Amino acid sequence: MNICTSERIYQEALNVIVGGVNSPSRSFRAVGGGAPIFMKKAKGSHFWDVDGNRYIDYLAAFGPIILGHAHPAVHQAIVEASENGILYGTPTEKEVYFAKMLRSAIPSMEQIRFVNSGTEAIMTTIRLARAYTGRDKILKFAGCYHGHSDLVLVAAGSGPSTLGIPDSAGIPQSIASEVITIPYNDLDALQEAVNHWGDQIAAVLVEPLVGNFGIVPPQPGFLEKVNELIHQAGGLVIYDEVITGFRFHYGGIQTLYHIEPDLTALGKIIGGGLPIGAYGGRKEIMDKVAPMGPMYQAGTMAGNPLSISAGIACLQELSSPGLYEELAQKGKRLAEAIRQSAQENEIPITLNQYGGALTVYFTNQPVTNYEEAQASDGEMFAKFFRIMLEQGIYLAPSKYEAWFITTSHSDQDITETMKAVEHTFSQMAS
Ligand code: PLP
Repeated sequence: MNICTSERIYQEALNVIVGGVNSPSRSFRAVGGGAPIFMKKAKGSHFWDVDGNRYIDYLAAFGPIILGHAHPAVHQAIVEASENGILYGTPTEKEVYFAKMLRSAIPSMEQIRFVNSGTEAIMTTIRLARAYTGRDKILKFAGCYHGHSDLVLVAAGSGPSTLGIPDSAGIPQSIASEVITIPYNDLDALQEAVNHWGDQIAAVLVEPLVGNFGIVPPQPGFLEKVNELIHQAGGLVIYDEVITGFRFHYGGIQTLYHIEPDLTALGKIIGGGLPIGAYGGRKEIMDKVAPMGPMYQAGTMAGNPLSISAGIACLQELSSPGLYEELAQKGKRLAEAIRQSAQENEIPITLNQYGGALTVYFTNQPVTNYEEAQASDGEMFAKFFRIMLEQGIYLAPSKYEAWFITTSHSDQDITETMKAVEHTFSQMAS
């Protein structure tokens, strides 16, 4: 495959953009390095790069593009909105309409505020939980990514209930020490953390189904117990549904599993591909937010007409009957084919699939938490990624990311991908 132009642009990019990329997860460092592919155009389930190569896209821009690229309804909504001016700095009726749409799909979000990213939404729910409870500590699960604000860039310590060690330079130890990190799906560790710090915990941050060390569902009873223990201790439960919101059905994991958090953060899909975030929850908690209450949060671009219009159009499409069932069928078909091909070629994998999302781990052990996900062989993944790429299949360049199937992936795309997987595994086995 000729990627000369990508390589040339990458060299130019390195001179002017740090690391050549505007988000580290776009770089190819985790898959052997070198130039990432520079894309030029995208339509439906396909990407075309600057050298004219075509790819079937399973990145979906790390999640938002659930309808595929340049979807006509979203495109039309953006064009129409832009003709009326792109930013007002005043309220608009569309924001109210969209907030009502979100609330009717996710009723625990009684009151909502729009922001510009998932990072902002999470950062604010944490501040709000602290303002509401008067406590400082945050409990989170190892390996779960909640954006790049200081508090949540604290990942795992060793062993359960370890006070956090920052995962990034520039985060004061004083901030990291406010974060308690425990393994996902581990109720003993949760109980231990609550026993130890219960009266200091403002909130627990939960991906109700993990998307950030691959796709990892909660084990039966886990989410219920999180609610029970944290509420008993007087803390709040925050669901990070930035990935899961409107991904698996028209709502969140909370509405699918019928479990309510106190606060919810959304992003990605609800902007139809434009920048957005939203947070919300019970009115008595949200009443702490300015101008109603003492907790400050603001945004020049928040609720801008383009993002809101794209989000409304996207959700209207997602409300079509049978849409999520179809995504899940495609996910299942692809997952079964990958498992079978791996078995035939004696490549040890564990495949977690949920609806239209899946992750292939190069390990023969089940993956239910971050430590188990870390056991996935990075070199095997890099090989898999490269051979798939050469055949025109674009996966996220990290062993921890999910493949996202969109409504625009055709049966033909899935068949083409299955053939590429077979070829890739046979190459890896030889
Ligand atoms: N929360 C989760 C679960 C995410 O996956 C992400 C991004 O990948 C974020 C928060 C941060 O969202 P954003 O990149 O829009 O700031």
